[in-house]
Amino acid sequence: MQAIAVRRGESEPVVLDKPRPDPAPGEALVRTLRVGIDGTDHEVIEGGHGDFPDGDDHLVLGHEAVGVVEDPNGTDLDVGDVVVPTVRRRPNGENEYFARGEPDYAPEGQYVERGIVGAHGFMAKYFTSPADALVEIPESLTELGFLVEPASISEKAFDLAFASRSAFEWAPETAAVLGNGSLGLLTLAMLEESGRFDRLYCLGRRDRPDPTIDVIESLDGTYVDSRETPVDEISDVHEPIDFVYEATGYAKHAFETVDALAPNGVGALLGVPGDWEFEIDGGRLHRELVLHNKALVGSVNSGVSDFESGVDTLLALDDDFFDDLVTGVYGLDELDAAFANDDSTIKTAVEFGGR
Ligand code: NAP
Ligand code: BGC
Ligand code: ZN
Repeated sequence: MQAIAVRRGESEPVVLDKPRPDPAPGEALVRTLRVGIDGTDHEVIEGGHGDFPDGDDHLVLGHEAVGVVEDPNGTDLDVGDVVVPTVRRRPNGENEYFARGEPDYAPEGQYVERGIVGAHGFMAKYFTSPADALVEIPESLTELGFLVEPASISEKAFDLAFASRSAFEWAPETAAVLGNGSLGLLTLAMLEESGRFDRLYCLGRRDRPDPTIDVIESLDGTYVDSRETPVDEISDVHEPIDFVYEATGYAKHAFETVDALAPNGVGALLGVPGDWEFEIDGGRLHRELVLHNKALVGSVNSGVSDFESGVDTLLALDDDFFDDLVTGVYGLDELDAAFANDDSTIKTAVEFGGR
């Protein structure tokens, strides 16, 4: 079967031929329909994040998949069920995080991530997965099923961040998403749909006309250009922000978020930057966090319940938004377009087969 992989020592995706996998007991065989591409895939391809499976000379890419059950193999699934796989798997045998159903809280070394860290991903004609790591989705969401995983990332981050504000009467009015990539824009739409915030902002570093700025404005968000208004000036130039969601991977934003926040506000950090040394006034930031009850929370990966919430949220979003967000779905002979990283590309997916 055909698969899309990156080989050790290379930094671009290629199509390989691999044997079709056989499901082990407790696993189902899934025929892949579509697999989405995000900033993490680019980081993995460039070698900035992730790792190859032990002993293999390549990593099959892809962690945002939707597929259809081909062989339930004695599990509770049925042939034809449309499913989305979660990303983390046990590296060797059981551990307490997986046993609790909280693999997204497992520390490094106690998980692998399919298509990212130490395990092949879903960009292949078929993949196998433990049935309990496959989330069934409604047929109506099949074509957009590759957005369930990224939506689940934000569902988890919202839960973590808002839980930190649950000890008191928190009445947020403003939210800002840092980053106008696919995760940032999807999150902006989710925040708009939630109805929790009166005013939304989204940060980028692009000139108009730009398709991501159009998406921001179609969601009634205010575009903030970080070249004119750095994150730590948003509060003065616009207004203090109750909830900041960082999705740029630009490390300074983590610290500048403290100044963007309103008193009692919370910032969720999602980006995965490389090492970068720079100066900050640690004393001032420490004081600011304490004296204004501000919180910063890091969030990674997501669990089955976040996937289920992601499905509900995606079902509530407008088709027009998806038409703008998904700029292309490509075949295996169109890898350049699928993995393009230019200003006209927002979200793409590779199509492996039809329903
Ligand atoms: P992406 O497509 O690369 O988007 C990042 C966006 O941030 C780009 O649009 C980029 O703008 C913008 N940006 C970067 N630096 C900026 C700056 N200084 N000022 C303004 N805008 C800036 O990536 P993505 O898929 O949306 O994901 C975003 C980040 O979240 C990545 O670091 C990814 O690894 C991470 N992520 C984490 C999780 C998790 O579980 N924690 C899950 C998914 C993704 P330009 O395009 O104009 O350069
Ligand atoms: C994936 C997560 C993963 C994270 C860190 C993200 O792009 O969506 O599932 O945990 O990268 O590797
Ligand atoms: Zn991702």
